[in-house]
Amino acid sequence: MLITPRLAEEAINSRLTCLPIESLPLTQCIGGTLRENIYAERDQPPFDRVTMDGIAVDSESLRRGVRRFRIQATQPAGSPAIRLTRDDAIEVMTGAILPLDSDCVVPIEQYQVEDGIASLKSTAVSTPYHNVHRRGSDSRQGTLLLKTGRLLRAPEIAVAASAGMARVRVSSQPAIMIVSTGDELVEPGDPIAEYQVRRSNAYAVSAALRTRGFGRVGDDHVPDDEHLLHERLALHLTTHEVVILSGGVSMGRFDLVPKVLAQLGVQQIFHNIAQRPGKPMWFGIGPQGQSVFGLPGNPVSTLVCLIRYVIPAIAEAMGTCRTAPERLALAAPVTFQPPLTYFLPVAVEHDDWGRPWATPRPPNGSGDFLSLAGTDGFVELPPGPNTYPKGFVTSMYRW
Ligand code: AMP
Ligand code: MG
Repeated sequence: MLITPRLAEEAINSRLTCLPIESLPLTQCIGGTLRENIYAERDQPPFDRVTMDGIAVDSESLRRGVRRFRIQATQPAGSPAIRLTRDDAIEVMTGAILPLDSDCVVPIEQYQVEDGIASLKSTAVSTPYHNVHRRGSDSRQGTLLLKTGRLLRAPEIAVAASAGMARVRVSSQPAIMIVSTGDELVEPGDPIAEYQVRRSNAYAVSAALRTRGFGRVGDDHVPDDEHLLHERLALHLTTHEVVILSGGVSMGRFDLVPKVLAQLGVQQIFHNIAQRPGKPMWFGIGPQGQSVFGLPGNPVSTLVCLIRYVIPAIAEAMGTCRTAPERLALAAPVTFQPPLTYFLPVAVEHDDWGRPWATPRPPNGSGDFLSLAGTDGFVELPPGPNTYPKGFVTSMYRW
């Protein structure tokens, strides 16, 4: 019995070791996973904040009919509050603290100034806290602003900065090693014979990881030689938390990866998933808790398995809050007979109303990676229906 993609995912997630925490300056945390709660340092706004350029007055003066105010002083942004004299006004700037004993701001358009006296236009009205962003009206000191597990993008970085955090605690980046295998593979730039192919998978895997902000990514290539594979994997396992292999996990006589990993004490958790492409995928846990992913070498399979299993697993090990996959509807019917989950490459296209649809872009088999260029990712079609109608809504994974 083959396991399903969902069970494969659970089998991986339940065996991951959570990555350690480190404290980094804010600018180095972009794209990282927060591993502490962040609370508001102060009320927000931290003081009664003037929201218009104008004059601060006491609304009580206006209520008693005062329409002409001596401008007593100026209160710019970034200086301590000065105290208003009764029935006077203080010139204020947007962002300034509201002067003491004033309670509202008359905007600059609503008065004229002559000889230091502001005369209100007839239309000028004011009530308490008019044009004032009141202290604590957005949030209170001590409020939980960001929960552990949050991904740190621009808005979250701004919140952390506003809370006065120069450094935050985030998950360490895992050291990841990509190992491609195969005697037929040749580096781009090197001379190539008819019977050889370019080593494109390692580049695809590295690109997908780096796009997602993983920076500690190494890369190696090993021929189909048991001794060499043993030696190199032994080394990589001592220095990396995640090892991603491409190729060598199928049924061929030179598919040596599972055998060598077993020799190295990597415990197999599963081999083969009920899916196409990528059925021969292998997963195991190394003696020090390393995650070892054996991805099938066919380029479409490699990339699909990486995106569907490996990247979510790394996010899980970093303590990142899980997010449900994007859902999209098929733009055209799809037929698929085998009792397997079908990962179908798609392009996201918008109709005349701007609604997104997943337009199928089936490759010419799992070796046809050229057809993936220009697609956006793939959808997951669960086994069961032989035909998935137009409008069938399912999970979408982006490259
Ligand atoms: P394997 O999983 O090793 O049996 O490989 C399956 C197919 O994928 C073969 O046609 C390989 O030549 C091809 N392949 C394996 N690794 C790579 C790679 N790194 N880049 C491009 N093609 C590959
Ligand atoms: Mg091979």
